[in-house]
Amino acid sequence: TLTRGASPASEAAAGTDMDSGLDKIRLEGDLRMALDRGDLDVRLQPLRDMADGSTAGYESLIRWRHPVRGEVSPAEFIRVAEETSLILPVGDYVLDRVCAMLAELRNRQRRPLPFIALNVSARQIEDTGLVSRWLARLEQYGLPPDRLRIEITESLMFDTQRIVQLLEECHRAGMRVALDDFGTGYANLGVLADLRFDVIKLDRSLVRRLSSPRGLALVRAVVGLAHSLQCDVVAEGVETETQYTLLRELGCRYAQGWLVGHPLPLEDVIAS
Ligand code: C2E
Ligand code: MG
Ligand code: MG
Ligand code: MG
Repeated sequence: TLTRGASPASEAAAGTDMDSGLDKIRLEGDLRMALDRGDLDVRLQPLRDMADGSTAGYESLIRWRHPVRGEVSPAEFIRVAEETSLILPVGDYVLDRVCAMLAELRNRQRRPLPFIALNVSARQIEDTGLVSRWLARLEQYGLPPDRLRIEITESLMFDTQRIVQLLEECHRAGMRVALDDFGTGYANLGVLADLRFDVIKLDRSLVRRLSSPRGLALVRAVVGLAHSLQCDVVAEGVETETQYTLLRELGCRYAQGWLVGHPLPLEDVIAS
């Protein structure tokens, strides 16, 4: 619960600039404590299949309930977690929560069982035992591996060889892998030929550009490119009906964003 009281480290960190070196150390200490205390939550944001309006699956998104700062966005702490290797226990924690959520949805007879997508960062990918640890955890919960989807952001694409290996391991296990935030990174298109992603997620900066003719032309071309590589397309950050309609007309099948649904705790997903 939220009422366990603030630690001295948390109080010291309150209201200071997150970017200073000292603050990074405080943030690290706080994050370590948050892991111990279970102050990290995982929310689920729906992905809608625009073909029939159904919910195809969910993306898991971490939230930190900081005793002093309130809810801290992953945009603020994932980077620090990566720099300090805390991303490894954080990643294990998120995976465990995701498995527990899938098991809960299954126990409540949710059929077909939706997939849950897991965001994975660079430091986690360096660990060559990563996929076997995921599989072991899934097995522990008696879950089929194909209900776990992996999201890798485009900015991680520097170690192509490792990504190729990771994709192979995931595919062998039946897991699909999405290229996240497409359109924000290097957009090294050649790499797409070598890396067999199953899904391409259009970053919301592309979706936002749908309002201009040139933006629309760009999104149309990217959707075509994805389909010619046999990839499904998910549009991120869909906030308006206009965007939704345009995307559907352009042949994009899946939509994610506030229009479709916010990231929610599992209880709300079950109730919805
Ligand atoms: P992402 O994977 O691209 O996730 C999508 C982000 O867009 C999420 O931000 C989500 O809340 C936000 N979003 C969804 N719909 C809309 C919309 O309609 N409009 C706008 N403006 N935003 C929308 P969030 O939850 O703050 O996460 C930020 C990033 O942090 C994620 O980007 C992901 O890269 C990273 N992240 C989140 N959870 C995890 C995690 O468990 N592990 C790792 N390694 N990274 C994570
Ligand atoms: Mg993602
Ligand atoms: Mg994304
Ligand atoms: Mg994005």
